[in-house]
Amino acid sequence: MSDSDGRKPLGLSGGARSGQVKQSFARGRTKNVVVETKRKRVMAPKPTASNPARDNAAGGKSAGGTTDAEMQRRLKALQLAKAREAEEAEKREAAAREAQEARERRRSELEAKEREEKEREELARARAEEDARRKREAEEAKNPRPAEPTAKQDAGAPQRQRNLGPDAKPGGRDAPRRRDDDSGKPRGGERRGGKLTVNQALRGGEGRTRSLASMRRKQQRQRGGGSSGPQEKVVRTVQLPEAITVGELASRMSERAADVVKTLMQNGIMATQTQTIDADTAELVIEEMGHKVQRVSASDVEQAIEVEEDRAEDLESRAPVITIMGHVDHGKTSLLDAIRKTRVVAGEAGGITQHIGAYQVKQGDATLTFLDTPGHAAFTSMRARGAQVTDIVVLVVAADDAVMPQTIEAINHAKAAEVPMIVAINKVDLPAADPDKVRSDLLRYEVIVEKLSGEVQDVEVSAATGQGLDELLEAIALQAEVLELKANPNRAAIGAVVEAQLDVGRGPVATVLVQNGTLKQGDIFVVGEQWGKVRAMENDQGKRVKEAGPSVPVEVLGLNGTPEAGDVLNVVKTEGEAREIAEFREQQSKDKRAALGAATTLDQLLAKAKADENVSELPILVKADVQGSAEAIAQAMEKIGNDEVRVRMLHSGVGAITESDIGLAEASGAPVIGFNVRANAPARAAANQKGVEIRYYSVIYDLVDDVKAAASGLLSAEVRENFIGYANIKEVFRVTGVGNVAGCLVTEGVARRSAGVRLLRDDTVIHEGTLKTLKRFKDEVKEVQSGQECGMAFENYEDIRPGDVIEIFEREEVERTLA
Ligand code: GDP
Repeated sequence: MSDSDGRKPLGLSGGARSGQVKQSFARGRTKNVVVETKRKRVMAPKPTASNPARDNAAGGKSAGGTTDAEMQRRLKALQLAKAREAEEAEKREAAAREAQEARERRRSELEAKEREEKEREELARARAEEDARRKREAEEAKNPRPAEPTAKQDAGAPQRQRNLGPDAKPGGRDAPRRRDDDSGKPRGGERRGGKLTVNQALRGGEGRTRSLASMRRKQQRQRGGGSSGPQEKVVRTVQLPEAITVGELASRMSERAADVVKTLMQNGIMATQTQTIDADTAELVIEEMGHKVQRVSASDVEQAIEVEEDRAEDLESRAPVITIMGHVDHGKTSLLDAIRKTRVVAGEAGGITQHIGAYQVKQGDATLTFLDTPGHAAFTSMRARGAQVTDIVVLVVAADDAVMPQTIEAINHAKAAEVPMIVAINKVDLPAADPDKVRSDLLRYEVIVEKLSGEVQDVEVSAATGQGLDELLEAIALQAEVLELKANPNRAAIGAVVEAQLDVGRGPVATVLVQNGTLKQGDIFVVGEQWGKVRAMENDQGKRVKEAGPSVPVEVLGLNGTPEAGDVLNVVKTEGEAREIAEFREQQSKDKRAALGAATTLDQLLAKAKADENVSELPILVKADVQGSAEAIAQAMEKIGNDEVRVRMLHSGVGAITESDIGLAEASGAPVIGFNVRANAPARAAANQKGVEIRYYSVIYDLVDDVKAAASGLLSAEVRENFIGYANIKEVFRVTGVGNVAGCLVTEGVARRSAGVRLLRDDTVIHEGTLKTLKRFKDEVKEVQSGQECGMAFENYEDIRPGDVIEIFEREEVERTLA
């Protein structure tokens, strides 16, 4: 091997140190030799305690290779180390503070001394001069110049003292020594020094008393305006929410943002001023910068609305709250209208009912409260916001139709919320009605009605003729009795917003369903991120009321903003409290949005499910192209369960992913799995907005593997599909030699010849494969952009129809992370 042959020299790989050695040979020949020494690998222990933040960050990222137990242990160790560090930091800080205070004290004492000294000197000089003058006058006759030396000395002494002035500045080294001389041995030292001047003599007795008095004054001054020390670091108690931007953190600590960024950097976290960091990271920074942390969590601020348990003897029975659900066009609205028309509470002289989102009807002695917003969206959005309002679900199924996708959804919603169901078989007036078919259909979904010896009440009704309405209401009242619904009317009200809007004349208006306690005019309340004072209330008949008890819906005026359906209303004592809670919530939701983009991903969920020892269930929602695959997935998911995580199928159905699926998923914090189906546009928008993850699969094993792998904490690299374009098929041509060719318009992105394609019909995947041709006019092209027309034909697939959609996708392998 020589260095001149141009090839790369052989060498030790990574970690070798290289250098050059010049070798000399005979006749002046020299040769450069590259010498490499292999660096020894030092097995140093990992810097756990010293750099917890970095470890944290790394831990998060590399969770793929770390088991959870390890993670736990590491986290615990980190926490311990952090606590220890914090303790030490605090001790250090206290010591530093003490030293600083002592220095301050000494400095101010010194300054006081100096001032006194100067005063004394002035006085002394004046006296000395006076004395001298008198002496001079007295002795002038005998001796013309006897007092001169004294006067000289007097003049000299102050000069010396004065010179000390500037030196005695804080930190001036002479100053303390000088002070010690003064107070410790005021005269001894000077005596030893020889001459005693008038000045010194004067300082003796009088100086001492004055010094004590001024000491006291000084101390008082110090106590009064002690904060005047400009260099002293002000230790702040920083209120820390669950997430905070770097800039905000800096301002809460009164530190420069750049310093905060630097501190973060020292801990291995790169963050800009506008970036949001989590509370743990922020805590680290706060401690490192010598401040104190006060974690603010919802529980602190919201203590004011903490609900104490009602005593059993205070409880009284209350009306049930009923939601009507079912497939579109099965007659939900008609049924609600029919019930309202016949049975409006008090029914006095056909009282005009107004729509406030809920109404009450009488059934015998019982009162029933109906939520006047049919559909699943209302139900799930309320549940998602923490308000479980509904006590009973009435499932409407049209007798001339059958169990439809939304019927199944409704069943799943009710089951997920653990709310009992009553089946109303509607439209029995129609000749095509076949109520028994509905009953037997329902069996497939584990809804066994009474007529088939089950427990679910079933009533045949007709919203059109009013047939069976009484029976239905009776059934509801009976179900309510079984539930023994109770509330305490004699307490501050808790309610849920059923509807809310901004009324031009009246300002923000919310229909609140009181759930417990009694809401009274004049009550101060907080509702979601809004607060207010009840200015006026109207009931479902448009009448003004002064108070509303449990299960009573009322329209409330006097809010400062419009809350959202499902927001919980709590009555509080003071406006201050109400405002504080509302503002805190607003900030919190802002922080949360900023920090997370509010995404619920499968990985996050699993990580959470595993981190939280109580959470042992992973909810998922599956939509598939056919019933068979939905069932197969359900079975496969059931098998995944182990001791730690169990997969709970919230809902599995056939067809495109709809907005209602997203609602249910959000309510339960679940991801939505689309198996050979896609989300429709409103669902996609809702998912984006609510941060619900949608995952598409076309192979069951992939889905199972993903869930399994995630469940066991081993997230390998995944193949992710990027949808690069969509095209709509306008026409289909038969081309000899090629087969069926689709005349398409690329509606989104691009169509690429080399990419994978899927044929979607009604949001369902019916074929997956590759393209045989991609033509623009007569030419074969590589790519066609959005907005352009093109011809496409599939490899080995002919069944294409106008109206079908072609999805164009590419696969890439990405490293899976937990964050
Ligand atoms: P929703 O979508 O579930 O709210 O259903 P609607 O209440 O809007 O009803 C859909 C259609 O079914 C309307 O045209 C109603 O007139 C009709 N409908 C509802 N209930 C009945 C019924 O009991 N008998 C008959 N014949 N038609 C009904």
